[in-house]
Amino acid sequence: MKYVTYSLPTDPSARLGIVRGETVVDVKKAVSAKWPGSCPGSLVDLIESGPNAWQRMAGLLDREPSSESHSVADVRLHAPIPRPRKNIFCLGQNYASHLQEASRARDRPFKIPEVPVFFTKAPTTVNGPYDDVPLDPDVTGQLDYEAELGVIIGMKAKNVVRARALPYVFGYTIINDVSARDLQLKHVQWFKGKSLDGSCPMGPLVVTADEFGDPQKKRISLRVNGAVKQDATTGDMIFPVDVILEFLSRGLTLEPGDIIATGTPAGVGLGRTPPEYLNDGDLVETEIEGIGTMRNRIVAFLT
Ligand code: MG
Repeated sequence: MKYVTYSLPTDPSARLGIVRGETVVDVKKAVSAKWPGSCPGSLVDLIESGPNAWQRMAGLLDREPSSESHSVADVRLHAPIPRPRKNIFCLGQNYASHLQEASRARDRPFKIPEVPVFFTKAPTTVNGPYDDVPLDPDVTGQLDYEAELGVIIGMKAKNVVRARALPYVFGYTIINDVSARDLQLKHVQWFKGKSLDGSCPMGPLVVTADEFGDPQKKRISLRVNGAVKQDATTGDMIFPVDVILEFLSRGLTLEPGDIIATGTPAGVGLGRTPPEYLNDGDLVETEIEGIGTMRNRIVAFLT
């Protein structure tokens, strides 16, 4: 299934939908008459209802002719989880190619980490898949992009071992881990430079794990104004998704709706010679095979 959070031009309230071809079907209108109790109204509601509800939903939607549907072009797609309950878990330096370019740019020795590097982004970073990314030149002069595979946790997970980790995943999405490099460096801890408002475009949809298949076999790419800047495969992750879940859930409970950004491959602006940072008007397209493409315009403003 391909789930979206969307709204209509006539009604800005967010609804849960599924995408079928070029059409968005309203989930609540399609299944509520047949749903026992109250039908999930958001993606997090559905995820929290558990695997039996996911299967029931998929079964009902497969059988249901679309009672209310819209052309994808006529709706606004929001981030699939517009306001996560906690910070987004992120991995740094999870592709050797990116670690190499970052080490070179920062004049540090290149060394593959023995354990994942974790940091987080504030919930207020979350942005829509086609929305503008704000750039405040008074705050940062080094806004950068990072294409990443996003993992949406489906079930409570603690101390899961690698071999049993993937069934805890509900689905996958695209994340652009937009980063203010000057702040990232200046404040030592990455949190501030990674947490500016709107610096986490997410979407355009969540593909459920059963439909997405092997998360380590997907092409991941990013273009700025049409020029390819990142082009790699998720197979190049140093710590693949199941290993990330094993490390992260050790003594730390992952909950339904939690989001993990799995790191970015080579080609970010920081690693280029000379470095290339994002400017007012730039169009960033972030694409992952099997999910789709986000398009975000960088828009400068003054506070
Ligand atoms: Mg990142």
